Parts: sequence; structure tokens; C-alpha cells
Amino acid sequence: MSTLALIFIIGTVMGSFLNVCIYRLPLDKSVVFPASHCPNCDNKLGFFDLIPVLSYLSLRGKCRYCQAVISWRYPLVELVTGLLFVAVAVKFPPFLFWPEFVAYAVFLGLTMVVLFIDLEHQLIPDVISFSGIILGLFFNLFRGNVLSSFLGALLGFGLFFLIAKLGKFCFKKDAVGEGDLYLAAFLGAWFGWQGVLLVIFVAYLFAALVILPLLIFRKVNMADAVPFGPALVVGGLVTLFFGQAILGWYLGLLGF
Ligand SMILES: [Zn+2]
Repeated sequence: MSTLALIFIIGTVMGSFLNVCIYRLPLDKSVVFPASHCPNCDNKLGFFDLIPVLSYLSLRGKCRYCQAVISWRYPLVELVTGLLFVAVAVKFPPFLFWPEFVAYAVFLGLTMVVLFIDLEHQLIPDVISFSGIILGLFFNLFRGNVLSSFLGALLGFGLFFLIAKLGKFCFKKDAVGEGDLYLAAFLGAWFGWQGVLLVIFVAYLFAALVILPLLIFRKVNMADAVPFGPALVVGGLVTLFFGQAILGWYLGLLGF
């Protein structure tokens, strides 16, 4: 239990760093320098301002120095990252300081950054996707799956390339962002060629479940650009936690 509490805390600290990436990467700023400061009054944040979740609560969501409102995204990212770390630790024991846990932690970090940047800016930084592709290949090299990983990256990219071409042909506009191609390749490199098919299937299912009600209640219309990265990230998380169970069940249905 205390190990899981420690892992939760490590996750929230990582989430705090992810917040820096989510804020700075789209602005082309370094994620290392300068130290964290309030974007409104430029005051450097002290130790107590940087304690994940708790500092936000104790400051009631406002800057200690200038009272500017702090986005609720900060504690949300910290909390979600902490919970996902715990979920990975429970799902894949033995976990403490195990290289595999580190690999999953990096995977979760990259996908959380994609999720929140794409939601806010409708873009997926190439640096994240390319890092994800390389780390995914490297991770699977150690697990003896490098061929499937390589095919997964190609398949993810290839399928979205086809969907993009088809979308352009049918709707005369870009239906798929370039960032989605590289993100699909990133997830393919992690989950292999079978896994990436599940990722994409879950992503479209999730997108349909979210977008149909929005279309019906006219919160969005067909011409709106809706970021697809978050749906792919959801597909990736479902595949991470339930992929083997789902694929095993499906192959069982087919009689394999
Ligand atoms: Zn301030």
C-alpha cells in the first residue's frame, strides 16, 4: 500500500513536469529553463508552490503573488498522471524501479502531453511523436517484439495516410491532421501491428461516442475541426490496460 502511495506521488510530480511541457512546447520554449514562474506576474515559484495538487488547493487556484487564476488543467494533469501510474503498477507487477515500469511511465507522460496540447491547440508536436516512435521500437527490442513494433508503426502511419487521402477525395478538405499520422505511428511502435488496429478501432468508437451527441445537440457541426489525437490516446490507454484481454477474446472468437 505504501508503495502504491509512493508511486502515486511520483506520478503527480511527473504530472507537474508534464504541465510545463504542455504549456511551453506549443510556444517553442525550453521545457528546462527558466525555472517555473507565474506567466502573469513572472514571479519565480517557490518549493511550496510546486507541490502537486496540494499547492493548487491551498492557494484556491490563484497565484500566491498576483492572484491570477491558475488553470484547473494543472491539478487535473497531476492527478490523472498519479492515478495512471498507480494503474500501471497494479496491472504490471513486479513494478518498483523495474525498467518496464519506467518505460510505461514514459509512455504515459508522452500521451498525456499529446492529449492536453491537442485539446487546447489542435496540434501534436512532432518531437513527442518521434520520441515515442524511437522509444517504442527500443522498448520492444528488449521484449523481442521489434519486428511487430516496426510493422505497427508502418501500419499506423499507412492507415492514417490512406484515411487522409480518402477523406480529402470524399470531402475535399483535410480530414486528418499530419500530427495524427505520426501519433498513430508512435502508438503502433508501442503496441505492434495487432495492437495498433485495436488502438484505431477504439479511437474511432470513442470519437463517435463523443461527437455524435455533440452533433445532435449542435455543440459542433460537420465543418468544425475536432482534434483526433485525444481519441487516439484513449485508444492507446485502452490497449495498454485491456489490449491483451480484448485481442485474446477476439482471436478466440475466430477459433485461433
Ligand atoms: Zn502571478
